[in-house]
Amino acid sequence: MKHLKKYLAGVVGIALLLSCFQVEYYTYKLQSRETIKQKPIDSYVAQENQKEKELKEQKVAYLTFDDGPSCNTKRVLDVLRTYEINATFFLIGSSITVNTKPIVERMIKEGNAVGVHTYSHEANTMYASADAFKEDFLRAEEIINEATGKKARLCRFPWGSANNYLKKIDKQIIPWLEEKGYYYCDWNVSAEDSVGKPTVASILHNIKKDYTRYEHPIILMHDSNTNCLTAEILPDIIVMLKQDGYKFDTLDHMEKSYQYARN
Ligand SMILES: [Zn+2]
Repeated sequence: MKHLKKYLAGVVGIALLLSCFQVEYYTYKLQSRETIKQKPIDSYVAQENQKEKELKEQKVAYLTFDDGPSCNTKRVLDVLRTYEINATFFLIGSSITVNTKPIVERMIKEGNAVGVHTYSHEANTMYASADAFKEDFLRAEEIINEATGKKARLCRFPWGSANNYLKKIDKQIIPWLEEKGYYYCDWNVSAEDSVGKPTVASILHNIKKDYTRYEHPIILMHDSNTNCLTAEILPDIIVMLKQDGYKFDTLDHMEKSYQYARN
């Protein structure tokens, strides 16, 4: 009898010990599962934050082309495609014809951004009054939206937002554009490729002397019929910026547009 009691006590003891181990084991397993679950989430968040930080610190150049579309736009698009980068084009409504509309379609298809650069680009008529400007702008907007198949959000004033013609009517024009959902975009680097008698050397020099001052240079260039030299020197401009560590993007991805009136 004594032996039986001892034997039973032994069995119960072992059973208790085993169940304790089991509980410990499962608790350990659960905890480690939690750790396994949590770890990737934490490191994923950290990675994302790092990516965001790097993106903000990154040097990004914005190539912009005004006064197209024209035959030179095709050459510009070819260069952009070769380097697998995109640019922003501010179009003149009256330059969009049956012949040039496919160029605008190609811009969009290849991932470039498009903005409104008025219909006539004639300072004396379109800046004559607020109503004249609105009429000209709406005409351009209609043609550009029809060609791109989407609603334009970007625009650029001919001669920039600080020009003397606009100053007389800007209190009526700027709020009107913003109400319509537009961001007007100026620039901080100018190629000076449509002033005087530019050469490939002068275009390159004008960009080179200014872009390093900015983490986000917005480079003004032109792609009208007369701007052959810009398309010619564009590969050198891109290589120069690339070698200096700049990436490229379009103005519709910029957090805050660069505006003379506000910068
Ligand atoms: Zn222009």
